[in-house]
Amino acid sequence: MARKYQNIIDQLTLEEKAALTSGKDFWQTVSIDRLSIPSIFLSDGPHGMRKQAAAADHLGLNASIPATCFPTAATMANSWNVELGEQLGELLGEEAVTQQVHVVLGPGTNMKRNPLCGRNFEYFSEDPYLAGKMAAGYIRGIQSNGISACVKHFACNNQEENRMTLDSVLDERTLREIYLTAFEIAVKEGKTKSVMSSYNLVNGVYANENPHLMQDILRKEWGYDGVVVTDWGGDNDRVDGLKAGNELEMPSGNGDTAEDIIRAVQEHRLDEEVLDDNIDRLLTLIFETNEVYKQEHKPFDVEAHHAFAEKAAEECAVLLKNEGVLPLNANQKVAVVGDFFYTPRYQGAGSSVVNPTKLDKALDQIADCGLQIIGHEKGFNRYGKKKNGLLKKALKLASQADVVICYLGLDEVTEAEGLDRKNMKLPENQARLVRELKKLGKKIVVVLSCGSALELNIADDVDAILHCYLSGQAGAKATWNILTGKTNPSGKLAETYPFAWEDVASSDNFPSHKRTIEYREGLEIGYRYFDTAGVAVRYPFGFGLSYTTFAYHNLHVSEQGVTFEIENTGEVEGKEIAQLYISCLGSKIIRPRKELKGFVKVHLLPHEKKTVEIPFDDKTFRYFNTKTNQWEVEEGTYQVLIGASSVDIRLQGEITKEGTTKELPYDIKDFPTYASGKVRNVPDEEFARLLGREIPNAELPFINKRKTRLIVDYNTTVQELRYAKGWSGRFFAWAIRFAVKFLRFFGNKTMANTLIMGVVHQPMRGLSRMTGGAIRWRQLDALIFMFNGHFCKGVHRFFKEGRAYKKAAKAAKKETESKEK
Ligand code: BGC
Repeated sequence: MARKYQNIIDQLTLEEKAALTSGKDFWQTVSIDRLSIPSIFLSDGPHGMRKQAAAADHLGLNASIPATCFPTAATMANSWNVELGEQLGELLGEEAVTQQVHVVLGPGTNMKRNPLCGRNFEYFSEDPYLAGKMAAGYIRGIQSNGISACVKHFACNNQEENRMTLDSVLDERTLREIYLTAFEIAVKEGKTKSVMSSYNLVNGVYANENPHLMQDILRKEWGYDGVVVTDWGGDNDRVDGLKAGNELEMPSGNGDTAEDIIRAVQEHRLDEEVLDDNIDRLLTLIFETNEVYKQEHKPFDVEAHHAFAEKAAEECAVLLKNEGVLPLNANQKVAVVGDFFYTPRYQGAGSSVVNPTKLDKALDQIADCGLQIIGHEKGFNRYGKKKNGLLKKALKLASQADVVICYLGLDEVTEAEGLDRKNMKLPENQARLVRELKKLGKKIVVVLSCGSALELNIADDVDAILHCYLSGQAGAKATWNILTGKTNPSGKLAETYPFAWEDVASSDNFPSHKRTIEYREGLEIGYRYFDTAGVAVRYPFGFGLSYTTFAYHNLHVSEQGVTFEIENTGEVEGKEIAQLYISCLGSKIIRPRKELKGFVKVHLLPHEKKTVEIPFDDKTFRYFNTKTNQWEVEEGTYQVLIGASSVDIRLQGEITKEGTTKELPYDIKDFPTYASGKVRNVPDEEFARLLGREIPNAELPFINKRKTRLIVDYNTTVQELRYAKGWSGRFFAWAIRFAVKFLRFFGNKTMANTLIMGVVHQPMRGLSRMTGGAIRWRQLDALIFMFNGHFCKGVHRFFKEGRAYKKAAKAAKKETESKEK
């Protein structure tokens, strides 16, 4: 295909081409003035802009320009409202434009494979269809401003620990149907202009260099012609990345990766045509997203965006339980307890941290909330410490009230990028507060704030639970509106709340502390598993209550889709989310019992009835046939299920499909565990059969029998240096571990987390890629040499290389100056 920017490409030197494919600094691309190629700015984030004006980092350390902090993706998915997502995207994009940002690094579209993944708050759902539709909405909204969204992290980045070196091992069908479908929707329906590759490996090859992912699927199958950018510091082998079609490495490779590219072209290991194709796509992104800056832009309307954030938060809150206590009324004496009442938990931690334009706090709004608030108390320590004094004061206050509102949740150091949660529990000091309140015999309303699923044992002891997730900067007001009945809650869970973490299908394989993580449960993630295996859950996927009730009638199934009626049978207006699930009867392949294939959200006045429609689409009946290597439809009868949640099926119909399958992928008798749906302990042979290859070795490459020593290489993480051959490597690992413990001991948990995220799980190559040129590539070689037991020679080499780099930089500067003259 003819290149759009061939004319410019013809004028670029090889050095300039190589330089263009890597960042200029932490957030910007390289500009080339003589050819009028501007630099573009990439910035987080997924639920609010995080443009760093001065000091840059990807860890959320340095403050950014104030921007609206909207509810996070995990929260927004509970709205099941794609239009709302699109509107959020529009505003996000508008703010990006006022901040001169060309690429918004989001939305995060990974699946919630396990509730403990530390970044679940940034992701939409455990279901690919819902996640994909929401992501596509965000992308359309962001890109309506003329700039680019950047859907991330492509793909199978479902664990935070060791995310930069972990190999996700999964079978092709699971990859396609579960882990890629949301990205497929984001690409095809959202038409994203950029994609961020994930840090991890997928089936043995770094995602960024993975020809199967990047070429066969993304480019050829999905027809994607946009840009792929590495996750920050995620480049492993720059030349392999380019070959796979990774146009841009971020942040800067400090000239090291450019050298690699030049050498590879000169040595004929990289075809310059491939480089040119990459440059062409990159230039398309640069010029297209820069168009918008040819006009002046007014500052965005802070108040209007805040108001939208409030409206969005209202649509996302999920009422999990209500035994006749909500909405509250002005005649009741209300006591409020809980640390989260004073200091809201409204966003996550890490690279997505937004510096909000303003922040609503529940405490500041008690005068206007319309309730008789008799007092408030903290009740517990936010970070889980037992504090009897706080508890006593709360109980004393509560004893005088009719109703107690408890603001509970997870703190900001528990749910954070770069690390996974240790367990799924609510901190014991909060659970204890609830138990003690229960003894007082008062009505208890829990307002919950956190970004991922919890074990909610407290549910049995309380009268109501309103789950607000991470509701953004205007969440506090939204919560009052729901508690007092000004707004009728209409969110439904986009993920399952199991009774216990051990109930989750992937819990035997999560987190992995080894080199690989095996997705043994295959297709059975989230509700798919609970449903197929018949495991009871506390709150199912798709569940959420309202202050009114809805009835469903008259299902009509056609080749095109379904229509049915929803009626508001109560006395207040409200919104209902109806879900379409498909179940294949008598299937000859492994299948979850049912899968989400569509949904609709409808607003109804009291006693109003509306006919709604959910069309079928290309995903409704498809499965990926690994024998023919294509999407197929199995012949047979399918149940068409309309549910108010994944377990509350209100209407049922059937449709028969002719199917396309001539050759089944396998004989299901060879997969008894998968066929049963009880995939907690899939035997090795069965998993290997599903993979179609041997299960890869998960062990670190130890060199001794005792498994205490290894040879350090570019992909050895700082944590793994504890096994380094040389004492200096082991000492380095120890020093970092000590620093983490020290910071934790002295209460600086956020900094400790940052160290884990930014250093502990960082592979050696990251020490060069992420230090802005402080450690150049040949110096890194020297460090590795040191850590492998050659301390003195390594130190000597390190400084010698440092001097050589400085000398070369000086010479290059002189040459440019003389050329300019
Ligand atoms: C995160 C990305 C983020 C990037 C830039 C990385 O650590 O994984 O999601 O966009 O940093 O901040």
